Amino acid sequence: MQWLRQFFKRDKPEIPAALWQECQGRLPFLAQLPARELLRLKTLCETFLDRKTFTGAADLELTDRIAVLIAAQACLPVLNLTLELYDDMAGIIVYPGSFIIAQSEMDEAGVVHEWREPVSGEAVHAGGAVVLSWEDIADIEAPGYNVVIHEFAHKIDMRDGSANGCPPFLADYHKEIRAGDWQREFSAAYQDFAARVDALDAQLPDNFDAEDATDAAMYDDLFAELPLDPYAARHPAEFFAVASEAFFVLPAPLAEEYPEIYRLLTLYYLQDPLSWQIAPCGKETGGKHL
Ligand SMILES: [Zn+2]
Repeated sequence: MQWLRQFFKRDKPEIPAALWQECQGRLPFLAQLPARELLRLKTLCETFLDRKTFTGAADLELTDRIAVLIAAQACLPVLNLTLELYDDMAGIIVYPGSFIIAQSEMDEAGVVHEWREPVSGEAVHAGGAVVLSWEDIADIEAPGYNVVIHEFAHKIDMRDGSANGCPPFLADYHKEIRAGDWQREFSAAYQDFAARVDALDAQLPDNFDAEDATDAAMYDDLFAELPLDPYAARHPAEFFAVASEAFFVLPAPLAEEYPEIYRLLTLYYLQDPLSWQIAPCGKETGGKHL
């Protein structure tokens, strides 16, 4: 991190106390962490900032504040694991707002559909970058969403190949996880969740328009009963990334409705966010994601 380095004239960046305080204030879920864990997170962030290259795109002026805010959220999932899970990553690219990417999907008839759509985050596979929208990182209104954790969960998932919802199990950290248990529980939960989303979708009127305020409010009311963002129903890899977001920023509904998923995530991340929640929970971070 060149600018932090220059400012402090040290080899390794050190996050100034005031900036770290500000970062904590922007991320209410960090308030649940015990002080010693917060200190470890800060140190891990400094290593992350030292190792990773941040680039501003489309004229975004990358500041220390932006980099530290991203680093804190990227490092939280690996606080009790290893930064090596992010070795296979070219860097972090930050756009001022959502950005357009090409999408493709094969339908049930085997026809590949291609389109372009705006997204707030993307984790590029095969050693690529994590690309993020600053506008969506800065949005703290939507409860349970966290685009940074979402995209870095994809990066963890991709560490052993393509994103499939089954991250690598590391010999030094994951002795208590049986791969068969993970696959069985995540597959069952994904199928259950996708069926719930389909049932709610069926209740939407035929002329539903997501851009219309009344229709959008109806959608929000209908889908509010779900413990996860309905985007989790799109693919098993999305289920893992969305469940990871919820695990760290709004864990209670996930733990209540999919207790085995919550339990497996505690064994994976070696953290138990519910046990941190001694203080009243504040607002959560927001952002849509890919
Ligand atoms: Zn995603």
